[in-house]
Amino acid sequence: MKFLNLQQQLELRKAAGENRQRRIINSAQQTQTMLGTQVVVNFSSNDYLGLANSHNAKRALSSHCERYGFGSGASHMICGHQQAHENLEIALAEFIQRDAALTFTCGYMANLAIIQSLSSKNDVIIADKLNHASLIDGVQLSQAASQRYPHCDLTALETRLKKSSQNKFVVTDSVFSMDGDIAPLPDIVGLCEKYQAILIVDDAHGFGVLGTSGQGCCEYYNLNQKQLPVVMSTLGKALGGFGAFVSGEKVLIDYLMQFARSYIYTTAMPSAVAQANLANLETLKSQPFLIEKLNNNIQLFKRLCADNDITLIDSSTAIQPVLIGHNEKTMAVFQSLMEQGILVGAIRPPTVPPNSARLRVTLSAAHTEAEIFTLVQSLKNSLNLTEVNS
Ligand SMILES: *Cc1c(COP(=O)(O)O)cnc(C)c1O
Repeated sequence: MKFLNLQQQLELRKAAGENRQRRIINSAQQTQTMLGTQVVVNFSSNDYLGLANSHNAKRALSSHCERYGFGSGASHMICGHQQAHENLEIALAEFIQRDAALTFTCGYMANLAIIQSLSSKNDVIIADKLNHASLIDGVQLSQAASQRYPHCDLTALETRLKKSSQNKFVVTDSVFSMDGDIAPLPDIVGLCEKYQAILIVDDAHGFGVLGTSGQGCCEYYNLNQKQLPVVMSTLGKALGGFGAFVSGEKVLIDYLMQFARSYIYTTAMPSAVAQANLANLETLKSQPFLIEKLNNNIQLFKRLCADNDITLIDSSTAIQPVLIGHNEKTMAVFQSLMEQGILVGAIRPPTVPPNSARLRVTLSAAHTEAEIFTLVQSLKNSLNLTEVNS
């Protein structure tokens, strides 16, 4: 391994202030989280509705597991596809008003699957520059040519669409994971129709939270299956579970099942996990006020930040980034927040572009107003403190 210079690469990363650390969580995923032996209020989770530790999901998981066991034993095509998977797919498709859905082990694999299997050698894939890593990797796996356009820049997108005479795909996040902004999907749909491109949308941060009933970007913008023919949603974020699904026409789902390598050549998710996802979907359907509560929390946070002169990247979603820029300063503010019992995400390059390190605050319906007041007070203190120190 010596020729790989692993140690040197690690040291370079440390020197750039980009070294990451795992922290051990000693409690369930909830707003009051045990980090080692310290209790912190967690503002870094994607558990937007507080469903990761829901009673219904836990009960469904354990009772299903008792009867059907833990492992699924094989891939879906061999003998790993159980009734719970089937029921989950039917329920998900119905919920987001699509003809059919196919579940995947996770969103990363689902994105690899759709891009790789739908595109071919003579096609071109046109992708937003700030797309999630899994979409970028999907493009790399594909045989197609690829181009990127500046973030949400419709003029640049149109220029690329106009120039190309090949079969075209446009690939975008609905909600951008590190900025929290929402892609102008109706305009993108319009361009795709005009230039006959197929639109692929990653709704990882939209499913469960966008739209009044949480169907995601389709509901938020009222776009039908013809307009958004390929939508990927994860079950690991707002739904508080694990796994992902792609939805669309039945022929799309049949095709993915036959041709998507990251669907075919991997073990099916445990069926108890499918059953627990189903339980959380039922909760989401019966408790739409969770989404309202989340939106109230987002509004409260934004208002308090404005009152306290804390500048946020413009976002109306649960992802609320505080742009800092410098890696070391970002870590200093992060550390200071930790000392005050607040956990946020500290996001540095290469996850985000150079000099755009940020604190990524994520809000949940489970946060209390008092917790959000404390967060903003602590943020203000920490930002002031590090200003003085630097
Ligand atoms: C989290 C995320 C994924 C990956 O989903 P997993 O189910 O966690 O693998 C894909 N796309 C985006 C935009 C994400 O934020």
